[in-house]
Amino acid sequence: MRYVSTRGGIAPVRFKDAVMMGLADDGGLLLPEDIPLVSADELEAWRTLNYPELAFRIISRFVDDIPAADLKTLIDRSYATFSHPEVAPVVHQDGVYILELFHGVTLAFKDVALQFLGNLFEYILAERTQRLTIVGATSGDTGSAAIHGVRGKAGISIFILHPHGKTSPVQALQMTSVLDENVHNIAVDGTFDDCQDIVKALMADLEFKQTYGLGAVNSINWARVLAQVVYYFYAWCRVAKPGQKVVFSVPTGNFGDIFAGYIAWQMGLPIEKLLLATNENNILTRFINDGDYSVGAVVQTLSPSMDIQIASNFERYLYYLFNKDAGRVRSAFDQLKNEDKISFSTQELEQVKRVFSSCSIGRRETLDTISDFRKKTGYLLDPHTAVGVRAAQKIASDEVPRICLATAHPAKFGEAVTEATGEQVPLPSAIARLEGAPTRCDQLPADKERVRRLIIATVEPVR
Ligand SMILES: *Cc1c(COP(=O)(O)O)cnc(C)c1O
Repeated sequence: MRYVSTRGGIAPVRFKDAVMMGLADDGGLLLPEDIPLVSADELEAWRTLNYPELAFRIISRFVDDIPAADLKTLIDRSYATFSHPEVAPVVHQDGVYILELFHGVTLAFKDVALQFLGNLFEYILAERTQRLTIVGATSGDTGSAAIHGVRGKAGISIFILHPHGKTSPVQALQMTSVLDENVHNIAVDGTFDDCQDIVKALMADLEFKQTYGLGAVNSINWARVLAQVVYYFYAWCRVAKPGQKVVFSVPTGNFGDIFAGYIAWQMGLPIEKLLLATNENNILTRFINDGDYSVGAVVQTLSPSMDIQIASNFERYLYYLFNKDAGRVRSAFDQLKNEDKISFSTQELEQVKRVFSSCSIGRRETLDTISDFRKKTGYLLDPHTAVGVRAAQKIASDEVPRICLATAHPAKFGEAVTEATGEQVPLPSAIARLEGAPTRCDQLPADKERVRRLIIATVEPVR
């Protein structure tokens, strides 16, 4: 299996190089040259597999440069850290199916991908006797999942910048209570944008980047998408009859999660529609419903992990929408740069609607959904999941099984849940035991030189 760039500017690479490259060297995103197909018979045979077994069947289709036994071990280790024996169980509540993706160490679905990516990085680095210094900015979820994905791993150091006092207390604790020597938390006196600007500036300094082996774990890494494809198959196997089509409702920010569903659809999983649910940051809903892909300002909502305007994985979908025409992808992003929008033909928009439908859910409706669901079923939804559940109730018919992806545990966003229901959310042990735990974190001004000096003082140059 070889990987190509959406911008068409690199020679094809194999899986391990695609993982290490992250962003393609031509500025595009990496995608498999061909998508493997899964037959109806195979799907039926997969029903009895447990999560790691199924993950191996799917992931190995995309990987031909890691021996099967090694890949199996990497996958088994990644999902052994989940607290639920099923890894991603499906529950049926009030006419919808909830795919619980929050049983990983940081209680959000990003663990599904980042546990695997951490193990994969360690394996490839050991084989190549290389070292990697991960530098990233976070407003909460990604940073903690990344830290837990690589803590204690040989050959990897990680520096995560978060805006001091601006993440939720739980999110901050999930990061700063990790005391492994290779983990470095930096609380920046500034905003998330300041953090991101510092990371971008450090990455743009090629001399520094190469000397210290800087890399990223953001959602554009192909291995993250690949790991997420698995749970679409897993949920289908739990819910659907042979050959039966289902709808997946996906609370969407960076388009990584739902893009994995799109890959599953291309592989032949019987999917009627992928329902893209957004909060008030609704550029992707405007795109799907009206062909309007014009960038607005980011607004803060109850579902902060979806507060995004430019979804980084969207480029991957455009590559397929444009029939793998890298030239058309390049011109679309030139237009975006110059005009803050991308224009589409009528025929392209018809194509989009064959797979996707979309709905934007505001603050009031999100709170009402959490409280209605609680009253009817006793089940607590986190605000991200509530956006997806509401979208499914609104625009998907109940004649087709509706599977809603639950992307975070309600206790992780307890304030919103309490606002909706008036109840305190009981803390799962993974959070409760953080209370009063020792922490380690450097507090720095929003100054890239100070961050650079900290990295230089902490890690040895890689060359
Ligand atoms: C990251 C995240 C999302 C959005 O997922 P994307 O892949 O960025 O679309 C939704 N919910 C939660 C809780 C998240 O952490």
